[in-house]
Order: sequence, then C-alpha cells, then structure tokens
Amino acid sequence: MIPQSEAIVLNDVPCTSIVPNANTLRWKTHLCLMKKRTFLKLASTAGAGLLIAPLASCGTGGQSSQADRPVVKGMKPKPFLFEQEPLGFGFDALEPAIDAATMEIHFGKHHAGYVNKLNKALGAADGAFDGLSLTELLQTIKPEDTALRNNGGGHYNHTLYWRTLQPGGATEPEGELKAELEATFGSLEAFKAAFASAGAKRFGSGWAWLIRNGQGQLEVMSTPNQDNPLMTNIAETSGSPLLGMDVWEHAYYLNYQNRRTAYIDAFMSLVNWDVVAANAVQGQPA
Ligand code: MN
Repeated sequence: MIPQSEAIVLNDVPCTSIVPNANTLRWKTHLCLMKKRTFLKLASTAGAGLLIAPLASCGTGGQSSQADRPVVKGMKPKPFLFEQEPLGFGFDALEPAIDAATMEIHFGKHHAGYVNKLNKALGAADGAFDGLSLTELLQTIKPEDTALRNNGGGHYNHTLYWRTLQPGGATEPEGELKAELEATFGSLEAFKAAFASAGAKRFGSGWAWLIRNGQGQLEVMSTPNQDNPLMTNIAETSGSPLLGMDVWEHAYYLNYQNRRTAYIDAFMSLVNWDVVAANAVQGQPA
C-alpha cells in the first residue's frame, strides 16, 4: 500500500495513477504523488515478473493511453508524462461566484493546454528532467527554460487552484492555521486584505500566493504569468504554496469583465481552508 503521507501530500500535484496492489496482484487506481523511485520500490515488492504500468502513469502524471500499455519490469521506463487531475465537481458547481462557461474553458482549454505543452517540452528535453516530480521540476528549472517554466507552472498552479475551491462556500481558517495567520498578519481580516491586494495589484497576468517562506513563516506574495514560488531560480520570493489565486483575465473575464476585485471577492468566498491548512502542515520546504 502507498503510505498515506505519500498519497495525500497536498502541496504537490497528484495524479490519477495505476499501481499494482501487492496483495491482490490486481491493478488499483490511486490518487498519489509517487516519484519514480517510490514507484520502483513499490513495484519491486509486488512480485518478480509482474507486469507494471509505465512510470508515465504515476507520480508526476501519465497519459491514459500509455497506462494502457504496460511494460515488463526492468525495461527502460517511458518518459514521465503529466495529466490533469479530474475536477472534483461540475463546471456549474461554483455558480454564481464562478460561472460554468468560465470553468469549462479554464479547466478544459487553458489548464489542459498547459499540460499538453508541458509534456511536449519534456519530450523535447531529451530526458534531462525525467523522474522529477512536478515540484522538483519547478525547483530545478532556470529562467531560460521558458516552456517548462510557463507550462510546468501552469499545471501546478491550476491543480492547486481547483483543489482549493469548494462548492457551497468557504470555510473559515481554524486551529493552528488561524492562529498562525493572526500572529503573522495581525488578524484574519488583515491577511485577507493583504492577499486580495496582492492579486489586485499584480499588473497583467499572474497569481497571488500565501506561502510558507524559506524561514518557515507565512507570507503573501505574487508572481507574474505562470511563475510559482517553488521556482527557486526564478521567483523573487520562494517558498511552499498554501493557497494560489489565479488573476489572469481568463479566470474571470466572461462574468466580471474588468472587475478583478469582484472576482477576487468571489474566489475568497469559495476557499476550502481545510485544504489550505493541510498544505500548511505538509508543505515542502522552499
Ligand atoms: Mn488560469
């Protein structure tokens, strides 16, 4: 079985994957975050001679078409490929705050496009980044790795975004996260104002973030385009994302036109703070 801690790490990008169940020797679908070496370790315990799914199907993602083509253990694995995690709710589930048409285009066109272009960029990299989780990829790339920067960031950022949105309205921060937000920003209201301001002031396209920075402290920041605070060679401030808010016009223009602040209010009305709290605990060091 996959250790629970590896199966639900919220601060990396999981995927639907197919891994062998050592007990039943049947294929079992998991949401997981395995890295290649983890997969190999698990696969090696599943029995000699067992057919295993290609590594492309796990950890950093995989194309279902490849997952359908198992390879014999010991063969050189296929290159890692990434895939979108299924949206956990319908396109219309966030209405009226975020409309169904925006969701369908945002998830089905924009995010999907980043994933496809990321996979193409990895294919063109001659294996230089094979085996890295998405987090590791973002931590590794340099400013000039343009396609990986834009599309790797786009994939990570949107996956975090979808997982943080909650149909039916936001919860409120509680417990340790609430106390930490209050200690860092003065009050929850002050934090929310700082976060909203980071999104409103981001010129052009980009993201507002709540991160845990390299000193272990909560911090609000923003990045341009699809940059991400895990990009230690790129971001002005690096850290581990807890919450990310997309302020690209494609996230809101159909419904809100130029009223970005109205969209920001809508976004904040949908945040699942239980997910943010889990990211705060399990987040990776910068
Ligand atoms: Mn977007």
